[in-house]
Formats: sequence, C-alpha cells, structure tokens
Amino acid sequence: MPVRVGIPRGMYFYKYYPFAKTFLEELGAEVVPSPETTKEILDSGVKFCIDDACLPVKVYHGHAYKLRDNTDFILVPRLTSVSQKEYICPKFGGLPEMVKYSVPDLPPLIDTEVNLHRSQKDLKKALFKLGSALKIKNPLRLNNAYNKALAEHHSFKSKVFEGNTPNQLINGAAAKNKIEGNHTIGVIGHPYLIYDSFVNMKLFKKLEDWGIRFVTPEMVDPHIINERCNELSKRMFWSSGKSLIGGALYMMDNSNIDGLLLMTAFGCGIDSLAVEYIESIARKTYSKPFIILSLDEHTGDAGYNTRLEAFKSLLDWRLTDDNNISSYGRSVHSY
Ligand code: SF4
Repeated sequence: MPVRVGIPRGMYFYKYYPFAKTFLEELGAEVVPSPETTKEILDSGVKFCIDDACLPVKVYHGHAYKLRDNTDFILVPRLTSVSQKEYICPKFGGLPEMVKYSVPDLPPLIDTEVNLHRSQKDLKKALFKLGSALKIKNPLRLNNAYNKALAEHHSFKSKVFEGNTPNQLINGAAAKNKIEGNHTIGVIGHPYLIYDSFVNMKLFKKLEDWGIRFVTPEMVDPHIINERCNELSKRMFWSSGKSLIGGALYMMDNSNIDGLLLMTAFGCGIDSLAVEYIESIARKTYSKPFIILSLDEHTGDAGYNTRLEAFKSLLDWRLTDDNNISSYGRSVHSY
C-alpha cells in the first residue's frame, strides 16, 4: 500500500500544491489534500491554535487536524524563503512546531526546510531531503520527480496567469475566467486569503454573479511586479509584500482596472506595512474606488456583504454618473 501523505489546504497550498503533489506521487506516495475550508475546520483551528495568530494560521491548524485519521504523514514544510534574496513571513518557519505542539493526535509531520534565500538551487537539496523522509534516496528517481514537479508548477502558474483561480485548477473545474460584465477590479491579498472561498466568503462567486471580472497579483507578469517594486525607496525583501505592492501599483495605473479590493488578515504584521503603503498611494494619487476588507474568525457575512455591495455601487456609479469632478480633494468617490 502506498504511503499516504496529507497536505493541509491552507497557507501556500494555493501556490505549491500541484508542485508538491507531483513530486510526492512520482515517489510513489498517495497524496491526500484536506477538503475545502468549512466552519468545522475553522472552529477546530481556532480551538487548537494560539489566540494571537492570524486567521490563515488558525485555518491551517484546522486543516492539519482534519487529516489526522486518514494519513501516515502530514507535510508541513518549514518555509523560510521561496525566492532568492527574499524572505517570507516568519509564521511559515514556525508552522511545524506550532502544529506539532498544538494539534492533538497527528501522524508524524514531514517538516523539511525550504530556504532559497541564497540560491534557487537549494530547492533540489530540500526536495532530496523530503525524499529521504519517505525513505527514497535514489538520486535518479528523485531528480526525475523534481523535474516533473517543476514542469507541473510552471504549467500551473501559467494557467493562473491566464486568469484561472488556483481553486478551479486544483479542483479540476472548467475555466470560468470569461465573465461578461462592465467592470474589472484588482483583488489584492495573500493567496490563502483571496483563493480560499470559505475565508473570502465566496468573493469570486459574488463577483461573477455581479458580472465583475477580476485580476489578482498572480495574474500580473512577475517582471512588472519586480519593476514596480524597484521604484520603492528601499528594496522589498518580503516575497508576499512585494507581490501585494507591485501588483497594486500596476493595477492602480492600469486604465482597464476600475477599482481595487484589498483583502487582509487582521493582525498581520506584513500587511500592516503593505496595506498602509498601498492605501496611502491609492488615496493620494488615484481616484479609483478602493476598499479594504480585513478578516478574522469573527468577521460576519452581513457587514462584509454590505461593504462589498457599497463597493459595487461605487463602481456602477462611476460608470453611469460620475463626471470625475470632485468637490473635495482629489475625488469624493474614493475611500
Ligand atoms: S503574512 Fe500575515 S497573514 Fe500571512 S501568515 Fe504572516 S501574519 Fe499571517
């Protein structure tokens, strides 16, 4: 019987699941992803995780717990850096310990460190260590699995770049990015916020029903994101902050994008810097409709929907009535 490796559907799942799945399957493992987030998963995450963690970390704990009975191992990599000369949020580095000591009844964790700060080549070394954890040490087999995983990762990234959401691709649903409508908005946020349809309260379904097309940072050319971040006075070394800020600057300048929706986790240190910067630029320099939705486990449907509807009304109003003459400041219509 193949060894069953569980992958929690949270944190960087929406970026790296196809990569990890292909690598593990090539080594003969059966990959078991946890199901889509539900209230039950969120509640168990909140129960087991420390109180002051952000929402995505709590959700991740709930997903790990969900995998406790039907897996032999759970993959919780220790992600330190996923790009050369950049770091990611330290919470990723602490996840294996947090999960191991907070969530009961789990099978052993595979907590291989991935640290590409020095060189992208260190990815291969990390994967060879991951293979060893599954008792596979044959370099040819590992190398082959690595190459196939990398090819799958590039193909997945290009499909997201073309406008498919990671969820559609991972769940095998037909591409739904051809929404007919009058507006296109930028949706900015960490992948584990904007692509988790429970956490984002079915945001994309709502936009689709309203005929609003959307662009996310993963749908923007990474070279453009780099270029836009190079305009900053200091080098941005947080990978996720870079994608948020570079993506937002591009979207604010793009005349095909009518408004910006920024989704953030309450209490997130990286977002507190990135969001403040984006908001200040949006307010000072642009007059596009702009909304910030801050999420935690207490965020309720009613307030969220009201704010989204107000944002939609603003977009509609802009299209039909707005003459862009402001009676106060740059525009009365941006907030
Ligand atoms: S970047 Fe923010 S939201 Fe993401 S894990 Fe870190 S603290 Fe949480």
